[in-house]
Amino acid sequence: MTEIPTPAITPINQPYWSGLDEGELRYQRCGACGNAWLPAREECPRCLEDDVTWQASAGRGRIISWVVYHQAVHPSFADRLPYNVAIVELDEGPRLITNITAPVDELAIEQPVVIRIEREADVSIARFAPA
Ligand SMILES: [Zn+2]
Repeated sequence: MTEIPTPAITPINQPYWSGLDEGELRYQRCGACGNAWLPAREECPRCLEDDVTWQASAGRGRIISWVVYHQAVHPSFADRLPYNVAIVELDEGPRLITNITAPVDELAIEQPVVIRIEREADVSIARFAPA
């Protein structure tokens, strides 16, 4: 069996991953302009200030888009086919790339979703289910 690829955890994104381990989806917000985003970075992608704080999301959002994979991007995902990769916009504003834990034919643009943190290969992963 092929090992599942795991994320590279760095000092910059570590609060995101440890938040998921603690049952909380965290995102970054700029103290200068109020912008909120994911994934983690050292400065605000809008104004480039480094006044960055971590905040907890309520874990609710909506589906912006998705694709369905019929060929596995990695051999360890072959038994999941077909699977979706979606963009979810959190109610707080940040967007993240994720999976929706629902059959592909039940997905819809603007569909409300709620976070479902799943443990896989010793990493907590933020996925979403229909709300
Ligand atoms: Zn900013």
